[in-house]
Amino acid sequence: MSYRWAMTTDEHPAPTPVWVIVVAAGSGSRFGGPKQHAPLAGRRVVDWSIDAARSVADGVVLVVAAADEGADEPAVDAVVVGGATRSDSVRAGLAAVPDDAAVVLVHDGARPLASHALFRSVVDGVLAGADAVVPAVAVIDTVTDLHGVPVDREALRAVQTPQGFAAGALRAVHTTRPEATDDASLVVAGGGRLRPVQGERWNLKITEPDDLVVAEAILEQR
Ligand code: C5P
Repeated sequence: MSYRWAMTTDEHPAPTPVWVIVVAAGSGSRFGGPKQHAPLAGRRVVDWSIDAARSVADGVVLVVAAADEGADEPAVDAVVVGGATRSDSVRAGLAAVPDDAAVVLVHDGARPLASHALFRSVVDGVLAGADAVVPAVAVIDTVTDLHGVPVDREALRAVQTPQGFAAGALRAVHTTRPEATDDASLVVAGGGRLRPVQGERWNLKITEPDDLVVAEAILEQR
């Protein structure tokens, strides 16, 4: 009896391949350089992001800037060059995800603090039937528009990555080459079922140099 046959009996359902695309092709204009390479607790920022992705994934695709093409990245399964926008980079990563992937997560390489538990809950949300799963957190600051008029923060959520998708839903929205700062909004705009999960307050996106100081302090506490 082959292993694959054994895995597809009623007792042992077929495995559901999970792939993660880690997008790390940004130029870091607000940071002042490629923040994915910045040192954080003895490693690069992106190494922490890759580790967390690996904790749930059958495969990881790393999307890098053209300047990093050909770099040795032994912790991932594929390295591809990204594009001018985040959405272009996601599409470049998606092209390297095998056709049999059932669940695809997209994670910002610049979010090194996302936990294994968060990755797990995103995968589980997709396996439970959602087209898109988004970690979301309440907005804690008072929010106003540019004229000082308050906006009801109870109605707002800040969304993070990793975001998880039924692979077909993610591939379908990207066929028209849309642009957005995340992928779940694209899937929802296309009529997909969204499942929010609790995000993590300290799942920072490294944006400015001071964010590294905060991230390092949080990692020291773990
Ligand atoms: O620019 P921002 O901080 O929103 O980028 C979020 C993530 O998307 C980062 O990890 C960045 O490297 C990635 N990105 C990318 N390709 C781009 C722009 C951003 O992979 N063209």
